[in-house]
Amino acid sequence: MNIILLGPPGAGKGTQAQKLVEQRGMVQLSTGDMLRAAVAAGTPVGLQAKAVMDAGELVSDEIVNQLIDEKLAGLAPEQGVIFDGYPRTLGQAQSLDGLLGGRGRKLDLVIELEVDEDVLVDRIAGRFSCASCGAPYHDHFRQPVKADTCDACGSHEFKRRADDNEESVRTRMAEYRGKTAPILPYYDAKGIVRRVDGMASVVDVSKAIDKVLDD
Ligand SMILES: [Zn+2]
Repeated sequence: MNIILLGPPGAGKGTQAQKLVEQRGMVQLSTGDMLRAAVAAGTPVGLQAKAVMDAGELVSDEIVNQLIDEKLAGLAPEQGVIFDGYPRTLGQAQSLDGLLGGRGRKLDLVIELEVDEDVLVDRIAGRFSCASCGAPYHDHFRQPVKADTCDACGSHEFKRRADDNEESVRTRMAEYRGKTAPILPYYDAKGIVRRVDGMASVVDVSKAIDKVLDD
């Protein structure tokens, strides 16, 4: 199975991808990570990418495609792939089909974790955490048992991410829609998009993804 996992920030995409890696032995291909790894390792493609980035330019599709192809070449045939953050344009979606085909694979499914934007705003905008141990809390859903005291470590210091506010969440959602808008119609037309309720619990989302993959 080769899939694209889509979901806006806060939908739990990272957690679900991790589960698929652990439970199904799938490989997660994040182009950002692959690019950083190639640059760090100083591979020929990495050096090329570094030169482009040092010049303040965007890495071309050609370079990204080469990275993906190298990665695919190194996988066992039975290892499924989860694409994350790629493709983002129709052109990339089409070249991905070509790359996969060249390695005897095909894209089986595009799984989109759907969210309710207003609920997501509520969830994310209220988040804070212990500054000392990182234990997660929430204004509405999970206050410390004793006010201003971390349940886990007793610290009185808490912190909030600057971008965990309504405006940032709505901006991130709009960015997400902008990124997926060019590719979803392409995959919808192929009939391979499956939508899963991303607002359910981590366990239920995972079950829903399993069902989609096993059907
Ligand atoms: Zn703590």
